[in-house]
Amino acid sequence: MAISKENLWLKKVVTVNLTFVIAAIIKPKGYLTIRLYTLLEETMKTTYHGSCHCGTIRFEADIDIDQGTSKCNCSFCAKTRFWKAFVDENALRVTSGSNYLTEYQFGGRTIVHFFCRTCGVKPFGCGEAPDMGVFYAINVACLDDLTVDDLLNAPVEYQDGRHDHWERQPAEIRHL
Ligand SMILES: [Zn+2]
Repeated sequence: MAISKENLWLKKVVTVNLTFVIAAIIKPKGYLTIRLYTLLEETMKTTYHGSCHCGTIRFEADIDIDQGTSKCNCSFCAKTRFWKAFVDENALRVTSGSNYLTEYQFGGRTIVHFFCRTCGVKPFGCGEAPDMGVFYAINVACLDDLTVDDLLNAPVEYQDGRHDHWERQPAEIRHL
């Protein structure tokens, strides 16, 4: 459904598996550590259930909310006040209404923003970054069973997307 997703998916599967095979041959102990860490990371995640406003789009997302959420001042996130949690591509499952998703892209067209055709709410976006691979940005406001307490207890990372410095915090964050 996204930016030639099959290709991105294939690329990631090949890259990840190749990395593990090479790691297993060169450094078996290191390989085990990575595998155990991955397993541990998986167990820290909670499966949240989300939906758009009209309920047409429904999805599940595996998120370790204690890893934090993110707000950004780029032209898109600022206008939509998009509060998100990043997950890898296997952590999102659209359980209903996928044919009601419509897409929006702008600028470098590196990120696909998905909206419900009926109510206009954006449940998630999809992109690819060198350090993250293919990722989904889940709209935390669409997670129906994430408690406000759990959301507020998680750290928030602020990104200066407006100046293409996603790694640093913008000078002003109060309006995001
Ligand atoms: Zn909707």
